[in-house]
Amino acid sequence: MNIYRSGWILLCLCRALGAGAQGTDQNPSVRSDAAQAGRSAPASFSVVPLGVKGGLDESNLSSYMVAAAGSNEYICLDAGTLYAGIRKAVDSGVFMTSVSHVLKDSIKAYFISHPHLDHVAGLIMNSPEDNAKTIYGLSFCLDVLKEKYFTWESWANFGDEGEKPQLKKYHYSTLWPGEEIAVPNTHLYVQAFPLSHGTPYQSTAFLVRTGDALVQKNDAYLLYLGDTGADTIEHSDKLHRLWEEISPLVKAGKLKAVLIEVSFPNEQPEKLLFGHLTPALLQKELADLAKTAGGMSLSELPVVITHRKPSGDQEMMIQKELQADSNLRVKLIFPRQAVRLYF
Ligand SMILES: [Zn+2]
Ligand SMILES: [Zn+2]
Repeated sequence: MNIYRSGWILLCLCRALGAGAQGTDQNPSVRSDAAQAGRSAPASFSVVPLGVKGGLDESNLSSYMVAAAGSNEYICLDAGTLYAGIRKAVDSGVFMTSVSHVLKDSIKAYFISHPHLDHVAGLIMNSPEDNAKTIYGLSFCLDVLKEKYFTWESWANFGDEGEKPQLKKYHYSTLWPGEEIAVPNTHLYVQAFPLSHGTPYQSTAFLVRTGDALVQKNDAYLLYLGDTGADTIEHSDKLHRLWEEISPLVKAGKLKAVLIEVSFPNEQPEKLLFGHLTPALLQKELADLAKTAGGMSLSELPVVITHRKPSGDQEMMIQKELQADSNLRVKLIFPRQAVRLYF
């Protein structure tokens, strides 16, 4: 046995022991592992939505904790709501620990898709209570955090860049499109891709991978899209390019879930979409993904619908329109705050 191979086996053994050691009642993440019972394949990802809505209700705005299944080391994709979501998850037994512990210790890093308040308010408001960690994003997004929010006139500068004095609790790490980074203290790797969110404004999709850095054999992926308009409306090719990037993963069965927004029902006039999707526009985009992946059926692909705007009865309208669309052949999932999902 060569040195590389024995090292790899040792690594696997450590991973296995580590995962086993986490299967205790003290571990916040594994209590609902029983929910996996009966699944045909073991889950790759555990997702705890801290907020699922696209506006209005400030206690339930876009924010998703994601970890490798069985791990207690999460990243947080967007952070519109933190406290209220964690509080609910603790109260319902999703996390068997304190709110403070989840905020400070279970969340290892933030990935922010774009700097609209419904995606960052929780991060800003909870910053005095948080532990030191890294905020990742494309440069357009981090620039707004540095220049507009973590300033002494808006709040306090908890960052390590921008106005002085800098409290240096948060370190900013700029992502570059298509370059995968390993997230320290987790089993996760992330790539960012730019999205168009009401030309000329931008947003970001995060492709999260779990697996090993060296051997990409047993890897699995989860794709989270921040707010995005459709290519046709945005006069953009950003979504099509993203579909090109992920279609090999779709073909290989490695893409375990897509989290994507549908903000408005189909009746929303085009000029009032403000860089968002409707059920009909989502259907067209997913048809483009299926075509780009060589005519693959997406019927087994879980698609989590995020960011429904709750004005009036819009949330129910969106759900009904999606469920009634016979051309939309995916596994639709409507997430609920603090209800864990496995993929
Ligand atoms: Zn937005
Ligand atoms: Zn939003």
